[in-house]
Amino acid sequence: MSGPIVRFAPSPTGRIHIGNARTALFNYLVAARAGGTFILRFDDTDLERSTAEFAAGIEVDLAWLGVTPHLTVKQSDRVPLYAAAAERLKALGLLYPAYETQGELDRRRKLKQARGLPPIYDRAALALSEADRARLGSEGRKPHWRFKLDHRVIEWMDGVRGACRIDCASLSDPVLVREDGSFLYTLPSVVDDIELGVTDVIRGEDHVTNTAVQIQIAEALAGEGAAPRFAHHNLLVDATGAGLSKRSGALSIASLRDSGVEALAVAAVAVLTGSSDEVHAVGSIVELAQMFDLAHVSRNAAKFDPADLRTLTQRTLLKLDFESVRERLAAHDIVGAHAENFWLCVRGNLDRFLDVCDWWRVVDGEIEPVIEDADFCRVAATLAPDEPWDETTWGAWTSAVKAGTGRKGRDLFHPLRLALTGKDKGPELAKLLPLIGRARAVARLTP
Ligand code: GLU
Repeated sequence: MSGPIVRFAPSPTGRIHIGNARTALFNYLVAARAGGTFILRFDDTDLERSTAEFAAGIEVDLAWLGVTPHLTVKQSDRVPLYAAAAERLKALGLLYPAYETQGELDRRRKLKQARGLPPIYDRAALALSEADRARLGSEGRKPHWRFKLDHRVIEWMDGVRGACRIDCASLSDPVLVREDGSFLYTLPSVVDDIELGVTDVIRGEDHVTNTAVQIQIAEALAGEGAAPRFAHHNLLVDATGAGLSKRSGALSIASLRDSGVEALAVAAVAVLTGSSDEVHAVGSIVELAQMFDLAHVSRNAAKFDPADLRTLTQRTLLKLDFESVRERLAAHDIVGAHAENFWLCVRGNLDRFLDVCDWWRVVDGEIEPVIEDADFCRVAATLAPDEPWDETTWGAWTSAVKAGTGRKGRDLFHPLRLALTGKDKGPELAKLLPLIGRARAVARLTP
């Protein structure tokens, strides 16, 4: 396959929220637009906090959003690759053992800060001789392993932030391998990006600080130019400016779905907030992909109001054609010759999709008619036209009722709507009436 190769790389230590969906969709849309490949990569090297259940849940959440990976991998299956890369870096003299305890490191950092120096690791471990290491080893001390940064300026052209530069002399040599031999996030991520041919890393701006290090490691392992392109997008924040966390329960994809928010409303808010495009309802992911452009993403915080998800859900439902909801309707036994007309008739009157069940009862089941004026309703019933009924029936019928009773306006229409639907507002009766049919309509007017 040609086109960009991108990846969304969640840690399966919780379910994803709308802010994570932003990253997932950015990647997915970039791939979808250009006929590229979208990889779902589970960063599950933290064996204590990662679970298979969370991973499965994230797959469900993504599928609901319309994000389907071409390939799914998990880092826990790929550890030998990381071990081989670590050996390569050791052989190159770029990965060195360090024995400081956290306590020692904290103490040294505080001393530096007190002297007004940047709290950077002093590379003391690099000065250890073979004999020092042997002695520490014989004392039972186990090393962690640090990558020896080249103290030069790393520059990259960020897909969102433009020209970026980081002076690596201002960074501590990053720890890549823990004492117990397990890998921190950095090395596995670089190895996978190279090994899977990732061309574009699109992720939240909270990762900008990792980029220079990752570029250096990629170049050490695979040569100059081996690093992918990077784009760091702004993060979604709520109306108060606070960021989202895995604990933002109500904004998890699972709870948004359960509360009746439409997937495409979530997608539109997740993608279009904080960009030069106005947040608006879309009828499909393809439509979103066609308008999406990383260059439109702003560098300011992407503030959104969760309440907008409700209004956007209503507008989204109005945009959905019958084909895109046929299966969802069928799941509620809304099937048959009228199903399409029914959908087109009611889709503008739904707060959430499940409201279709109420309206289906109105056209195909039993309801409690509301009779405001029994005499008037009886007269209206006697004037009901013969079938077949179509969209002109309502007009013809109400003209006859108007002529027969002298009523007009709300006095004419409102009692009829209440009796026929049991509700005081809803879809156009001209469209709804043929779906209700003559027998039901007459029965509701004369209960
Ligand atoms: N697992 C990392 C995260 O969830 C991935 C970061 C990246 O995309 O490189 O933040």
